Amino acid sequence: MKKQFQNWAWSQGMKFTTKVHDLTYFFWETTLSCNLKCRHCGSDCDKDKFIEELPKEKVLQVFKNIAENYEPKDIMVAVTGGEPLVRKDLFEILSEVSSMGFPWGMVTNGMLVDEAAVEKCAESGMKTVSVSLDGLREAHNHLRNSELSYDRAVNALRLFLKSGKFDIVEAITCVNSDNINQLEDMYKLLKDIGVQGWRLFTIFPKGRAEVNSELLLNKDLVIRLFNFIKDKRNSNPGMHISYSEEGYLGCNWEREVRDDFFFCGAGINIGSLLADGSYSACPSLPREWIQGHVDEISFSEAWETRYKNMRDRKWMRTKGCESCKQWSNCNGSSLHLWDFKEGKTKVCHYNMLNA
Ligand code: SF4
Ligand code: SF4
Repeated sequence: MKKQFQNWAWSQGMKFTTKVHDLTYFFWETTLSCNLKCRHCGSDCDKDKFIEELPKEKVLQVFKNIAENYEPKDIMVAVTGGEPLVRKDLFEILSEVSSMGFPWGMVTNGMLVDEAAVEKCAESGMKTVSVSLDGLREAHNHLRNSELSYDRAVNALRLFLKSGKFDIVEAITCVNSDNINQLEDMYKLLKDIGVQGWRLFTIFPKGRAEVNSELLLNKDLVIRLFNFIKDKRNSNPGMHISYSEEGYLGCNWEREVRDDFFFCGAGINIGSLLADGSYSACPSLPREWIQGHVDEISFSEAWETRYKNMRDRKWMRTKGCESCKQWSNCNGSSLHLWDFKEGKTKVCHYNMLNA
């Protein structure tokens, strides 16, 4: 009962957050190019495909516009890809972004991380880094489609930590049926390496993951994963372990597997600049959510006048959500799970867990 009240109070607070829609998190999708071809990749990136990246001047134009209109120190920039480190002018751009006052962090597969890269990250102001680690050697290399990728990822974690120059060095793991039996061993490995955080997420049916559907977890495995996370959160204050923000889970699991109750901030406090110059919220959202382009409108103007379909989500209350009593806590779940073709949320974690 207490938890239900807390969740209700949280959702009331989120109504205010939605109304003021202060930008606090900004993804920069640096490139769609990648040096791996992972089986679970949610994007359409392909290492053989040439994709023109948004030129440096235009990227900086967007950051300058944001810095002029909002408070950069309050906006965390999340640098993603593709693989960010394949972009040649990455550090030139990020040094300027950092000089404007933005804190920034990066997600990397670790393939290109060596001591020189770590030094460049530090020089250009990186605060946090997340290295993808999707299992022990065999499972990780299988998922990442590369025999070198496990060693490179573990090495990257060690190098970032050894430098001592970053606030948070964490691992991020896509849990699937191949690696779920390895979580305990991965935990020991990560403790041994000394990472400060471990974020675990599950695959949702998108991009190449839709084709490799054997990687998706069934209800029993999801519950097993949640019990693992809950147990480790309770017993290990030294490493911050959490489930990603994906999907509303209901009171049995909310705040047990992650810090806060569910809230999808896409377009509310989260915006993005995509690799082609489009504006969106999270890079995992499909093209239907695009809100403008750098050549057409400034980001701040788009943020103030558009993004309306993300801030008022009543239109999403259709089909399975129509009569759901959880609506006020869930609001239709994660935007990235919305299926435009079917006009409904593709996956409801709450229903799956409570079936
Ligand atoms: S769309 Fe998905 S990734 Fe983006 S804020 Fe919502 S839950 Fe998070
Ligand atoms: S049915 Fe819809 S509103 Fe209800 S929990 Fe599932 S996704 Fe959320």
